[in-house]
Amino acid sequence: MPELPEVESIKLQLSKYVVGHKIEAVDVRNQKIFQGKTSDVVGAKIKEIRRFAKVLSIDLSNGNSLVIHIKLTGQLIYRGPNLSVKGRSSSGRKTVPPLSKKVMGGVPGPHTHVIFDLDGGGFLYYNDIRRFGWVKVIKTKDVEKTGFIGKLGPEPFKDLTLQYFEKVLSKTARTIKVVLMDQAKIGGVGNIYANDALWLSKINPKTPASQLSDNEVKDLYDSIHKVLKAGMKYGGASELAFVTPDGAEGEYQKHTLAYGRDGEPCERCHKAKIQKYFLSGRGTYFCPICQIYLS
Ligand SMILES: [Zn+2]
Repeated sequence: MPELPEVESIKLQLSKYVVGHKIEAVDVRNQKIFQGKTSDVVGAKIKEIRRFAKVLSIDLSNGNSLVIHIKLTGQLIYRGPNLSVKGRSSSGRKTVPPLSKKVMGGVPGPHTHVIFDLDGGGFLYYNDIRRFGWVKVIKTKDVEKTGFIGKLGPEPFKDLTLQYFEKVLSKTARTIKVVLMDQAKIGGVGNIYANDALWLSKINPKTPASQLSDNEVKDLYDSIHKVLKAGMKYGGASELAFVTPDGAEGEYQKHTLAYGRDGEPCERCHKAKIQKYFLSGRGTYFCPICQIYLS
């Protein structure tokens, strides 16, 4: 599932492509995904895009917001005049960057569920193969209080302080990896970055959170920020269906530390191979030498 760096990458690109534009029409092809009235959106200008952990809020000039959770396979794709132009075709026309193969069926296509028609000739498409994601119309003043966002824990780079992090971990005997991914405790960290942050700080994923030493907690706090920063630098990780609004894939999957590297030698000790097992149903990757578990 896309995590903080993936959704941040969407936010940054969308801010470039759609902010300042007016929504002229909305074509809803799947009522389950678009929850609200299109009349609350049509005619409004896009003012700002905010991100809360893995959720986006597109704030409009009329006091409403489009709150979007892409869940497993949602895609927000922009096509139109604001795409960065990488060159011109031989006919002298502007060329639009090609869509990744992960945009199955193209846009609009069989997996396109909502189309926002913007002024100036741009389109914003919401695609979703598995259809777990949603787009909700919510009053902007209520966005932060709304169910899902209101329950999110503090997030890295925003309000996740070391002091809070220490306190949360000291109070639970749940495994550290499960706590890192608990959105009510810490917002935005999912499976990829939890695995990599634990590898970076040499902590075994199944260590009970309350057993970590002060130094380990501090190290893990720093590692979370480091791996998320790397994720953002590479435009997120393209697993399943993740693409950025220009239709391109992220690159972090080529730079993971432990995630997805089972059977490959550990980059740090060069003695062991990364092992994989399932912890609370999620693929868990670790080095049996660097991240030894002493119970
Ligand atoms: Zn190792």
